[in-house]
Amino acid sequence: MINNNKDEAPQGASLSSVSNKNFDVIVIGGGPGGYIAAIRAAQLGLNTACIDEWKNGKGGPALGGTCTNVGCIPSKALLQSSEHYEHAGKHFADHGIEVKGLGLDLARMLARKDQVVKQNNDGIAFLFKKNKVSFFHGRGSFVNRPSTSSGQSQAAFYEIKVTPSTGSGQAGAAEETIAGKHVIVATGSIARALPGTPFDEEYILSNDGALRVQGVPKKMGLIGAGVIGLEMGSVWRRLGSQVTVLEALPTFLGLADEQIAREAKKAFDKQGLKIELSAKVGEVSRGKNGVSVAWTNAKGEAQTLEVDKLIVSIGRLPNTIGLNPDAVGLDLDERGAVVVDAECRTSLPNVWAVGDVVRGPMLAHKAEEEGVAVAERIAGQHGHVNFNTIPWVIYTSPEIAWVGQTEQQLKAAGVKYKAGTFPFTANGRARALGDTTGMVKFLADAATDEVLGVHIVGPMASELISEAVVAMEFRASSEDIARICHAHPSLSEATKEAALAVDKRTLNF
Ligand SMILES: Cc1cc2nc3c(=O)[nH]c(=O)nc-3n(C[C@H](O)[C@H](O)[C@H](O)COP(=O)(O)OP(=O)(O)OC[C@H]3O[C@@H](n4cnc5c(N)ncnc54)[C@H](O)[C@@H]3O)c2cc1C
Repeated sequence: MINNNKDEAPQGASLSSVSNKNFDVIVIGGGPGGYIAAIRAAQLGLNTACIDEWKNGKGGPALGGTCTNVGCIPSKALLQSSEHYEHAGKHFADHGIEVKGLGLDLARMLARKDQVVKQNNDGIAFLFKKNKVSFFHGRGSFVNRPSTSSGQSQAAFYEIKVTPSTGSGQAGAAEETIAGKHVIVATGSIARALPGTPFDEEYILSNDGALRVQGVPKKMGLIGAGVIGLEMGSVWRRLGSQVTVLEALPTFLGLADEQIAREAKKAFDKQGLKIELSAKVGEVSRGKNGVSVAWTNAKGEAQTLEVDKLIVSIGRLPNTIGLNPDAVGLDLDERGAVVVDAECRTSLPNVWAVGDVVRGPMLAHKAEEEGVAVAERIAGQHGHVNFNTIPWVIYTSPEIAWVGQTEQQLKAAGVKYKAGTFPFTANGRARALGDTTGMVKFLADAATDEVLGVHIVGPMASELISEAVVAMEFRASSEDIARICHAHPSLSEATKEAALAVDKRTLNF
């Protein structure tokens, strides 16, 4: 344990087996949900511990969870590197820049990605020190339900066993038990494998293996055209792989606005990303040098896909392995997610759960918001998460981002709305960038003009969407956005123009 907390245990606690290891809050899991909850709790004056079991290559701690180690951060590092490579090979010439002898040093690209991950791991460890969060490197599991000690304290403590992550290099690292008045479960999620086809991370890859492939495969197969699948497919396509994506659903990006998804699909088709919809995957077998996938296409015809590597990206499962929820009777649903109410309270008093391990979108920023809100609730404040304004982003090129309702959702709910779109082809900055794919689309209430959804496919959609989130959080109308002065020339002018388009009065289109 690295104890950053000089104040030791709260007064009055007395537990026979756990002297001096009593906390106001114990967070299990150090991903974006957990580490942010721990920092916020500590900021609010709560004596806080965080337990995380993730190990780096040397067996030491690697705070940040899936997001930092095998998710958001490394995937964006590789997306950036592979985008540079593609630009240098295909687009620099348009700018009059000659690139001779363009080469790819994949080992260096992967090492850079690892370095970016490490900077983030170290950054979180620093933040724990700064905020006096006590960190335990190991697996946290419930021991039993709380017992109130006789005598001084009425506080009920949950006992949590910490089994040190092996190879952590800590001299004398031994199992220990700590206790907390409140426990925040933030144990995240794990990749879902195809039934009967476990990941070997050499040929059949989860997101973890997909970020560590040591040579550019000639042919890459991908099962699942979700957010993670598309991002991984984009990385390897840009680096030179022939990528085929098999998607079981008949619609592309079913969660996104249909018009935006269509636009994105057109762009991906043009780039050579082969996406097969309504694809039913059958047997997956490993050969000596690759993988063979039997599948049936939309017409019901039997097909075989032979690839060097196969990424399986068919969703993620809530992770409670090692948590020992049965010891305390913590309720899980049929998917294995910890059951929580709208405020992240579980079935047990003073036990909370946030992030991927509970219902809702598996997004790092959703986990963080829940973590902050729970810490504030524990401290007696009124933490709040607005689930309607959680943005979604897919970091492909073009990027795809949205917040709020899609057109198909509004139609299904019978909401009367007005729509306005503005294409990046008519935006000066996009032309200067040489990246005019896509559009911004506004959906506003027909009667009140309140912004109900904003959908973007195009350059820097991930950044542009923030304005829409702010607008929706403040319940702005499309006219509010249309009246705001946007810098010229900027991509954000497309946002303003799309807002103007709601009232059919674009100025530049
Ligand atoms: C390839 C990929 C790309 C992604 N890109 C994005 C993106 O761009 N934007 C975005 O918003 N989201 C993205 N995500 C999703 C994002 O990573 C998750 O939503 C986020 O990490 C969830 O945070 P969390 O804190 O709930 O869980 P996690 O990040 O999974 O962290 C849970 C932590 O708890 C630890 N743990 C589990 N059980 C125990 C235990 N019993 N004791 C101690 N420790 C335990 C785990 O080791 C882990 O460190 C991506 C995911 C993947 C796989």
